Amino acid sequence: MTGHHVQGVPIAEIAATHGTPLYVYDADVLTETYRGLREALHPALELYYSLKANPNVSVCAELVRLGAGAEVSSGIELRTAAAAGAAPADTIFLGPGKSDDELRACVAAGIRAVVVESEGELRRLSAIAGGGGPVEVLLRVNPAFTSKGSGLSMGGKPRQFGIDEELVPGVAELAASLPGVRVRGLHAYMGTRILDPADVVHNTRGILEMAVRLHESCGIELSTVDVGGGLGVAYFENETDFSVAELAAGLNPVVAGFAAGHPGTRLIMELGRYLVGFAGTYVVGVRDVKSSRGERFVVADGGTNHHMAAVGIGSFVKRNFPIRSLTRPDEPATGACTVTGPLCTPNDVVGKKVPLPDVRPGDLLGVDRSGAYGPTASPVQFLSHGYPAEVLVRDGVAHLVRHRDTDDELLGRQVLAVQPAAQPA
Ligand SMILES: *Cc1c(COP(=O)(O)O)cnc(C)c1O
Repeated sequence: MTGHHVQGVPIAEIAATHGTPLYVYDADVLTETYRGLREALHPALELYYSLKANPNVSVCAELVRLGAGAEVSSGIELRTAAAAGAAPADTIFLGPGKSDDELRACVAAGIRAVVVESEGELRRLSAIAGGGGPVEVLLRVNPAFTSKGSGLSMGGKPRQFGIDEELVPGVAELAASLPGVRVRGLHAYMGTRILDPADVVHNTRGILEMAVRLHESCGIELSTVDVGGGLGVAYFENETDFSVAELAAGLNPVVAGFAAGHPGTRLIMELGRYLVGFAGTYVVGVRDVKSSRGERFVVADGGTNHHMAAVGIGSFVKRNFPIRSLTRPDEPATGACTVTGPLCTPNDVVGKKVPLPDVRPGDLLGVDRSGAYGPTASPVQFLSHGYPAEVLVRDGVAHLVRHRDTDDELLGRQVLAVQPAAQPA
């Protein structure tokens, strides 16, 4: 998304209609991103959208319409995917600590697979499925090999996720004795924010080799192998986006090699950030501009309460998301600003030393590349501001796809334990 329009609609108009702070999503960017990847990657690799990156039902529906399956991790995400049009046969449920209700919902919906994270969960699912089973299961494996270059590495370490590779044969044997479940394959997820295609290739090759090893050593069925994903979006000054062509050049031969030897296996790549990150802009209104001991502060109506990631991921040095003035897009920068939000904490800093034109109260600022892990991964209730509005622009029309939390909604779920004493007259 560039310029201060989205598909010809001025962002200022969207902000005037729906207020700020708000998130604006561009359906054209969702489409380009999905198609770019889909067309480049080997057709044996099915693409699943990880709803946790952006659980908005309309955003999810765009990706489902384009052909993505759904990877969900909570009961409400399961419902969201269904409401967005995802078929149960194209839905998988994954994540630690699944409740009995969530497992029951998976069984009732007849989804493609429950990705089981432990022996205990496998027993619980089998009992829940009962005579109605068997339920299709993928075993999530915590691989013995380690991932490379990831912001959050998995594999080879103690983790609450999945079953250690060494323990999989025992769990597979147990599964064979449980009437309610049938293990159809394996899943592994090696990390997030991966920007080097070579790391994706390394992880995928490692997972496929592990799958073959486990198939040969303990006869695990390989109807499906989910190779994770974790493709990144360049946010900060020192990062660059990977080239999809380069990724395809490295990955497709690995996939083709496996597919040739295992023609009956369906492969899944599950992606959150990459599919939605580029398509979102966080739009805030400037409330105040001030100086403090030589530093220029731009205080906006939204901050890290809706965009925690802008604080800077995994770094001691503050690194900025791309931030620009939507009100004065053609004016040159006149200085560096610290962009802050409405929270009463010095950590509510969205950008430091951001080059901006002469910003004035009432101006709009945009934080780009913010479609993933925005409000859903932020402390939206801090200072009781609540969830921001979300707008999806498709075919040149701005649709409000989530209204901001109202004061009545925020206060309405609280209960006064004791009625306050009447005020003296
Ligand atoms: C979070 C998560 C994803 C999505 O990760 P991205 O880095 O956003 O693509 C996929 N699979 C699992 C198991 C996850 O936990």
